Amino acid sequence: MSERVDVFKNGRAVSLEAVLENREWRVAKQEKLEATFKEETVVAVKLNMPGAIKNSPAIQQLFQAGWQLFLAELSTWEIRHLEVFSKRPTGPEGFLVVTGDLTAIKKKAIAFEEQFFMGRLFDIDTMAKTAPDYQLSRRELGFAPRTCLVCDDDAKACAKARRHDLAAVQEAVNRIYEEYFVIDPVIPAWNEEMVKKAATFACLAEAVTAPKPGLVDPLSTGAHADMDVYDFIDSSLALENYFGLCLDAGRHFRGSQLSHLLTAIRPSGRRAEELMYLATNGVNTHKGTIFTLGILIAAYGYASRNQQSPSLSFVQSVVSQMTSQLLDDELAKTVAQADSQGNRALTAGEQQYRDFQLTGVRGEVVNGLQPLATVGLKTLRESRGSRNERLLNTFMALSGSIVDSTLVKRAGDPKVTAELADWVAQFNRLGGANTEAGMRYLKELDQTFVARNLSMGGAADYLVLTAFLGRLTGLL
Ligand SMILES: [Zn+2]
Repeated sequence: MSERVDVFKNGRAVSLEAVLENREWRVAKQEKLEATFKEETVVAVKLNMPGAIKNSPAIQQLFQAGWQLFLAELSTWEIRHLEVFSKRPTGPEGFLVVTGDLTAIKKKAIAFEEQFFMGRLFDIDTMAKTAPDYQLSRRELGFAPRTCLVCDDDAKACAKARRHDLAAVQEAVNRIYEEYFVIDPVIPAWNEEMVKKAATFACLAEAVTAPKPGLVDPLSTGAHADMDVYDFIDSSLALENYFGLCLDAGRHFRGSQLSHLLTAIRPSGRRAEELMYLATNGVNTHKGTIFTLGILIAAYGYASRNQQSPSLSFVQSVVSQMTSQLLDDELAKTVAQADSQGNRALTAGEQQYRDFQLTGVRGEVVNGLQPLATVGLKTLRESRGSRNERLLNTFMALSGSIVDSTLVKRAGDPKVTAELADWVAQFNRLGGANTEAGMRYLKELDQTFVARNLSMGGAADYLVLTAFLGRLTGLL
C-alpha cells in the first residue's frame, strides 16, 4: 500500500486550558438548550481524540461521516434544533434537540457508538431538563461498557491504568480511519429514503460541477448543443423512484445467481429511460447513469441486506457477478446479429467493440467498476477545497484512468485516450482545480472539446457513481 494515513496531519495542537474552556462552553450551550426546550431531549455529539490535536481535515471527514449517519438514525423523531461546529480547534461538535423520550434516544446513541464502524471514536451525550436525575448507565440499558481503542479491554480501566502511550492510541485512530475510508471503504446500510436522495444528489452534483470540459454544466453546454443543465436537473429528479426500485430489488433478492438480479432490474431500467426522455423532451442525459448507477445501487442493496455495512470490494464483486455474462454472450451476439442483419444501429459501445475491441461500459461493470476505489473515492478523499474543486479533481482523475467510450466514439479514434492523458497531466501540473491556473486550463480544454466535438460521458458517469458512494460514506 502507498503512504500511511495520519489523521492528525495538518492539525493544530490545542492547550489543556483550551480544552477545559471548551468544556465550559459546551456545558453552557447544553444548559441553554435545556432551558429553551424544556420538554425535549438535548443531544451533544463530539469525538474522542487522543492527544493535543483535536481537529484536522481528516478528523472533520470522520465526524461528518458519523454525524450524517446519526442524524438519519434519529429520523423517526422530530429534530427541533440543530447546530454543527465542525472547525472548532478543540474538535468538531454538534448539538441537537429532539422531540422524544430520553431513554429511547440514549439507546439509539449507544447503539450508534457500538454499531457504526467508527462509532468508537464518537461520544454522544443525551440529557433532558424534565428528567435531570434520569441517568441510566450503559449497563442498565443493556449495553457493555465502552471498549479501549487499542486492546478491546474496558476503556475506563485502560485509561485509569494508563496502559497505552499516546502514540499507540493515535495509531489506533489512524487504523480505524484507514479501515473505514482507505483500505476497503465501509458503506453503512442506509435506509431507502437516504439512498434515493444520495443517488439523486449524485446526479445533480455531477451536473452542477463546473467547468467540465466538453460536458453540460451551468457555465456551458460543452459539446452538447441539444441540452442544458436544466435537462439534467429534470432528468435527475425523474430517476429518483428508479433508484429506490433498484435498491429494493437488491435488498429483497434471494436467488443464488446474481445475474438474475440484473434481469430483475431491467424492466425498471427501461421504464427509467422512458421517464428520462419524457422529462427532457427526448434528450439522452442519463442513459449511461441509468445503467451503471442502477446496477451499483442494486448491488449495494444486496450487499447491505439484513442491515450489514458492506465493504466496497464486496459491492464491486456483486456488480461483477451480476453482469458477468454481459461481455461474453450478449455483446458478441448483439454485434454479430446487427452486422448480419443490418437492421439496428449499434450503440457507441457496440460499435467500438466491433471496431476497436473496446468493451466500454459493459467492460467497466464486468470488472466491478474498479476505478471507483482506486481513483474516484481516493481522489475525492484526498482532495481539499470546495466540493466543486474536489469533484473537478476527481472528474479529471477519473477521465485519465478509464477508456471513455463516448470520447472514443466522438473522436473516431482510440488514440484520443493518450491525448487526454496529456491534458490530465497538465491539469495536475497546474495544481488542479484548487488553483486559478488549473481552473483556467479547464475552461481552455472546454473550448478544445467544443471545437472538436468531444465529450467524456463515461467519466461523467463515473463521477456520478463516485459522488453517490462519497455521499453514502460521508465524504461529500
Ligand atoms: Zn487498552
